[in-house]
Amino acid sequence: MPELPEVETVKRTLSPHLIGKTIVTCENIRGEVIKHPDAAGYAAAVTGRRIEELGRRGKYLLIRLDSGDSIVVHLRMTGRLLYAEAAHPRQKHTHVVMHLDDGCELRFCDTRRFGCLWLLGKDEEDSFTGMQNLGIEPFDEQFSAAYLQQHLGKRKITAKQGILDQAVLAGLGNIYADEALFAAGVHPQKPCTQVTAEQWQKLAEAIPPILCSSIANNGTTFNDYRDGEGKEGANLPFLQAYGRGGQPCRRCGALLAKTRVGGRGTVFCPICQPE
Ligand SMILES: [Zn+2]
Repeated sequence: MPELPEVETVKRTLSPHLIGKTIVTCENIRGEVIKHPDAAGYAAAVTGRRIEELGRRGKYLLIRLDSGDSIVVHLRMTGRLLYAEAAHPRQKHTHVVMHLDDGCELRFCDTRRFGCLWLLGKDEEDSFTGMQNLGIEPFDEQFSAAYLQQHLGKRKITAKQGILDQAVLAGLGNIYADEALFAAGVHPQKPCTQVTAEQWQKLAEAIPPILCSSIANNGTTFNDYRDGEGKEGANLPFLQAYGRGGQPCRRCGALLAKTRVGGRGTVFCPICQPE
């Protein structure tokens, strides 16, 4: 599932292709992936508009148009946003195609169809994308151990659920939550109320560099994730915990354990991340 580093990579790989291009037509093959306004309203609003800038907030990708409106995209599980030549065969489950004035296409594809598109008007209040409920970004200067402790320290949830809470910290998903907990030596099921100040410090120090190095590797492709040019990310071999259950810990050699935390598959080292 695309998390912050993957969405950031989609943004970075699409930007040079999209900025300055105009959307000439919008073809809605499966308009129900467009959640706001309706598919026809979306197509009308993006047609003829030039793309000015791409942005990211948490796991949301933003495409700002010269009208001041923004296309907001969430890829959820299996969504892809691809820049492709018109002659390049469309993958199955291509739901929206925005035709650009360079003859190429911006395609939204999604096998499982949990991904969504919205159009957020220039002066429109955002009450519908979910972005309005996001906490701070891990690269925000306000992000610190004190911030984590203040927002999570009294919560009756596990440490893993805490750092996954998008209303506290935007952008982490299952991969980087497991990686951050491993790097900080925090057991994923440790109640937030029992995480020490030193452990919050280790988490706050671990999270930004883990995300940065994944961005430098164009994100992690485990299954479905592709960047804006359809390429896989190269970060998978660098993961320490996620996806490595039953394999030896790269720090201590013990076998990594698998469990479930809040319904999510979780991998941790029973030695490096003691209860
Ligand atoms: Zn270990």
